[in-house]
Amino acid sequence: MKLSIIEYMNYIGGSKNSKCVEEGESILNEQHLILAGKVRETSCADYITLYGLCLQTNAPNLNPYEITGKLLLGTSVTVSSMLCTCKDGNSGKCKHVSAFLLKYIREDVETLEVISETDKKWVTQRDLMKDVPVAEMPCFSGKIKKTKITIDADSVLDFFCRNLPTSTIAMHRKGNTKGPSTNTVVEEMKK
Ligand SMILES: [Zn+2]
Repeated sequence: MKLSIIEYMNYIGGSKNSKCVEEGESILNEQHLILAGKVRETSCADYITLYGLCLQTNAPNLNPYEITGKLLLGTSVTVSSMLCTCKDGNSGKCKHVSAFLLKYIREDVETLEVISETDKKWVTQRDLMKDVPVAEMPCFSGKIKKTKITIDADSVLDFFCRNLPTSTIAMHRKGNTKGPSTNTVVEEMKK
């Protein structure tokens, strides 16, 4: 089941020349709607609770706008309510909501993916291209144990000499005096 163009136009209150119709379409075509789906716990049969994230067109590095709303599923799909965190978002009829709804004129509402809290955080970080340490990535946080590692320079040297027996330092340790002295290399490694 898809949202009908008539229902979309009725809800958004626009005409084909309306700014929010035109801008909504370009937001969607430019793929600024980075997340669109439904919230799991409220996905009951007669309505869908929506959740989406939309990049700020003029400031894609800032936090995306959050879109929330509800679609009623009867013999057809009707828009019950929509909200967006942008400055015009309280009206529920801003260009971001328009883009979100246009997506479901094109696609079946049954194909709406279920969005988890992890998805919300992950998509935000990924699409804003922030540098995030692995330990803070939502999919890894909580799974990482921190361990203190101590490195002993002598055992590292032993390891390399054992595995690279033809290296200058390994040869030198075996009695070839052409290479650098062991003590010099150990001192270098400790720096
Ligand atoms: Zn908005």
